[in-house]
Amino acid sequence: MTERTFSIIKPDATEKNLTGAVNAVIEAAGLRIVAQKRIKMSRAQAEKFYEVHSARPFFGELVEFMTRAPVVVQVLEGDNAVARYREVMGATNPADAAEGTIRKLYADSVGENSVHGSDSLDNARIEIAQFFTDDEIVG
Ligand code: ADP
Ligand code: MG
Repeated sequence: MTERTFSIIKPDATEKNLTGAVNAVIEAAGLRIVAQKRIKMSRAQAEKFYEVHSARPFFGELVEFMTRAPVVVQVLEGDNAVARYREVMGATNPADAAEGTIRKLYADSVGENSVHGSDSLDNARIEIAQFFTDDEIVG
């Protein structure tokens, strides 16, 4: 089934000029980038986005990281896009990520792991709506 998922190219990747390299992996995997913009996330945006992790010991560090440099927020479209992008990203900890995945190729650590991808279709809808209006998505 054709789905949309939400992606973030995180600060560690934008700082290293890896936006295009990450996008090449996304597109080679058959996912279409149907919306994309580079933004500086505010503290409030990052705290809201990662609200589910607010009780975790790494929450403060995560918000600092996500706000320290620009990110690229994206909407990706394709067959089974939610699960497919999670595969393409690789495991949260790059040390555990499979060969050829974005995190294996480019990520530095479990915290600075280059990309975000929605973990369910419901969360994809919620996350897309936090950063994009309908008219910004051109499928
Ligand atoms: P994923 O991004 O793979 O869905 P999680 O939802 O578990 O992973 O965590 C959200 C983000 O929080 C991770 O992508 C990573 O940036 C950060 N994070 C997760 N676990 C840790 C950790 N143990 N230490 C530091 N940061 C972490
Ligand atoms: Mg997650």
